[in-house]
Amino acid sequence: MSGAIELDNLTLGYDGHPAVHHLSGTFSHGSMSAVVGPNGSGKSTLLKAIAGVLRPLEGRIVQAGDRRQAMAYLPQRAEIDRSFPADVTDLVALGLWKWRGLFGAIGRHDIKALEAALQAVGLVGFERRGIDTLSGGQLQRALFARVLLQDAKVILLDEPFTAIDEKTVSDLVGLVQRWHGEGRTVIAVLHDAELVRQIFPQTLLLARELIGWGPTETVMTRENLRRSRGMTEAWDEHAPWHEDGHGHSHEAAQ
Ligand code: ADP
Ligand code: MG
Repeated sequence: MSGAIELDNLTLGYDGHPAVHHLSGTFSHGSMSAVVGPNGSGKSTLLKAIAGVLRPLEGRIVQAGDRRQAMAYLPQRAEIDRSFPADVTDLVALGLWKWRGLFGAIGRHDIKALEAALQAVGLVGFERRGIDTLSGGQLQRALFARVLLQDAKVILLDEPFTAIDEKTVSDLVGLVQRWHGEGRTVIAVLHDAELVRQIFPQTLLLARELIGWGPTETVMTRENLRRSRGMTEAWDEHAPWHEDGHGHSHEAAQ
């Protein structure tokens, strides 16, 4: 069904080196899922692959319908180039490109949609502000307006609430809940376990491989979270030495 996404023995990585191993499972149509896990556990990698900007090393992602029309992807903020000379309207209107193409006409209906999107995120009056002058929260609001305009069946958000003010978080959480209510499939990487438990019915817990995937309360257990931390450390070649039996200790040298 359109909006459902199936991962089939998916292995993802960079330059042929696996970063996330053997993921299988389904995001069902209209579901709202949090992707959680320690730093470096592969959350952004998974979102990139679902968005189609990273090709799997192994396995496949199956989605019904036209993927380009059906998906909106908001990358992690660190990956967004704010020095690009653009104002809020330019940034938000990028959401229309998917439909119109780069040189397609933007009509009166589009202008109305754009105004409505800015209204929905509380950025009326900011139309001509350069994006380099926005606060983190304002930039995130503009990016949410862009997602709104895309009117996508599947919405992918990578850490949408990290390092922004409380008021913005609560406004944007409201938008995510609205999308869910409209039957869209929402997949979001989150750090705040409390927010995950409050808002997200489904959770996928990652630590370079799947630790758990299903109803949030069954996945976000203390035992699973402990396991996920341990596993990421085991994979991380840069993790500091722990305990003994592995030669010298960094602690001893500090
Ligand atoms: P998370 O989003 O959970 O913090 P990532 O998906 O960004 O984790 O990263 C997972 C692993 O893939 C990490 O070991 C990271 O160093 C590696 N990685 C991420 N992006 C790249 C890249 N562009 N090139 C090479 N390795 C990468
Ligand atoms: Mg990330």
